[in-house]
This record gives sequence, structure tokens and C-alpha cells, in this order.
Amino acid sequence: MSGPDLSLSTLAVGAGRPARTPGGPLNAPITLASALVPGGDSEYGRHGNPAWEAFETALGALEGGKALAFASGQAAAAAVIDLVPLHGIVVAPEHAYSGTLVQLTDRARRGLLELRLVDVTDLDAMETAAEGAALLWMESPTNPMLDVADLKAVAGVASRADTALAVDNTFATPLRQRPLELGADFVVHSASKLISGHSDVILGAVVTQGGRAHEVIEARRSNLGAIPGALECWLATRGLRTLHVRLDRAEQNARTLAERLTGYSGVKRVRYPGFGTIISFEVAAGAEAAQKITEMGDVITYATSLGGVESTWERRRRHAAEPQAVPADLVRLSVGIEDVEDIWADVKRCLDVL
Ligand SMILES: *Cc1c(COP(=O)(O)O)cnc(C)c1O
Repeated sequence: MSGPDLSLSTLAVGAGRPARTPGGPLNAPITLASALVPGGDSEYGRHGNPAWEAFETALGALEGGKALAFASGQAAAAAVIDLVPLHGIVVAPEHAYSGTLVQLTDRARRGLLELRLVDVTDLDAMETAAEGAALLWMESPTNPMLDVADLKAVAGVASRADTALAVDNTFATPLRQRPLELGADFVVHSASKLISGHSDVILGAVVTQGGRAHEVIEARRSNLGAIPGALECWLATRGLRTLHVRLDRAEQNARTLAERLTGYSGVKRVRYPGFGTIISFEVAAGAEAAQKITEMGDVITYATSLGGVESTWERRRRHAAEPQAVPADLVRLSVGIEDVEDIWADVKRCLDVL
């Protein structure tokens, strides 16, 4: 199922299913294969496996491009970052996902690239930083500060500087933002989050317009071996079938919770970009109190990661790798699809203890 006239919800449900043959399954099977019969697209499981196709077709349809699945979001990011030539300049958000920043700062420290960190909301700063850059890495909204970039304007900056633009679209998902349409060259996903949606998969993806960019990224995957597992692709495809329904519900919950948290006693600052399922808020009583409340949740699970059907929260700075720019008292709440009144009652009970 495909076609420009179908809505993204319909594509989420139907794209990437096998051809309808009598007696055949409605869902792509899990193909466990290291070796395949010669004469097809691939004869070795590191170069290609039919198990990846359903997921790649469905995600590609949603993003409006061609998707390649990777072992994780970090492996997907690495495949793109690796394209930067030696001593090339990379511009990235000062508040990007900590794992991405670790990859970039590690390469910068080893003298492989030059890193310029920017505020994604400051287009003038970005314009200056992009001069001579090989790659402009964007994340919007950012994790966990929820800064939002004007991606269309950023694409303009990239094009004037003749710089490749990569966008980590994990938080918005293609249902809220389609970076390729806005001018991005690469879209990167941690499919471990909202796309799979059930906190049981680690998987990533890179989506391009196809052509040379697709070939280059596919070759990186084959050669470096950061390939996805068959089971992970199957689970992520199953999760993706309900992405629009989960996202709508969790986002509705998040809007209500962000509104109620704003101005609530003990809450210092609420960050919510107006869409998506993640809320970050600072706790007036400080980092220790913030840590305490996240360990007190009943409906809300104390856990890292995000984008699952269940609500989770954590104090991000409990991780040593988290940038110091993230306030120590900041709690990142990933809103799930439970009844919003039950989530709110849990938040309130924890906050009221302070
Ligand atoms: C989790 C996350 C990643 C990393 O993805 P993994 O699947 O954990 O490797 C990258 N970007 C963002 C925004 C994330 O939240």
C-alpha cells in the first residue's frame, strides 16, 4: 500500500505489508537468515535481509523517503557522522541527545572533526557556525530541553553554506514533522522510542531521498555491520502500525499535564513545545527533591528512555554523560497513553510531598 493520496495514518497501518497472495500472511514474517540463495538482492545477511523490508518500507512511506534500518539510533547517527571528511566541521545543538554529543565530542577530541555547538533557536549563530561546515546536525525538539528549531529556516542556512543537513526526528516522528520535505538530506531516528512504542526494542534508522545518499549509507551499514535484528524490525513494524493512535492519545495527555504543571506549587519551569509526548520540568526544591519524586511514581515508572505506551520519568542529570547545560533539577516526563487523570493524580501525589 502506497501513494501520495493516502494519509499518514493509513500508511502507518498498511505500508510495507507483503503482496496479497491466497494463504499468505498479512504481516511480513521474521526471516532468520545469514545466507540467502544467490540471484536476489542479497546473498549474505549483513548486506540485506528480507526481515528489514517491512519496517523500512513503512518508515520510508511516513517520512516521504527511503529508509535504512540500523542496530540502534546511535548506529544510525554514526553512519551519517562518519561521512564527514577528516577535519571537517560539524555544527550541532548544544542540547542535543547526550549520546549524539558523546559521539561528536569524542571524534572532536581525537582530532577527527571540529565541533561547533549552537542554540538551535538562534538562526544568526547557526548561519555563522555553518560557514565552511561539512554537516549541520539538528535535533528538534531537543532531548531533554525541548528546544524547537525552525527546520525550514535551518535548511536555508545549510543550503547557503553548502552543508549537508541531518535531522534527528525521534521526538517529533514523521507524523508531526517531515524533515526531508523541509530540505533535510538525512533523517535519523531512534526507533527504540515512539516508533516502536513499547519499550522492548533497540533500533535505529536513516531516511534519505534515495539515490546516492541512500547508497552511501547502505554501504556504511554493510561494511561496518551495524545491521538491525530480524526480531527488532518485526516488533518495530508492529509498533509503528499504531503510532498515530498512540501519539494522538499521549500528546493529548501531555498537553493536559503541561497545562496543569505550569504554575503548580513546587514546579519551577515547564518546557513543552505544544506537540509531542515529552514534558521537561524543573523542581523548585532542587535536584535531590527532583530525584526523590521520580522514584516515588506509581502509575509513572522511574526509568530512562521514552516514547512507550507507559509513562516514565527520570532526572536526566543522574546520568554522568548528560550535558551540564541541562539543569540538575530537571525531570523529563515521557507521557504514555494511560488515563490522564491517573497520571496527574500520581504527579500531584509526588509533588505534594515536597
Ligand atoms: C534515544 C535517542 C537516541 C539514541 O537512540 P538509541 O536507539 O538509544 O541508540 C538518539 N536521539 C534521540 C533524540 C534519542 O532520544
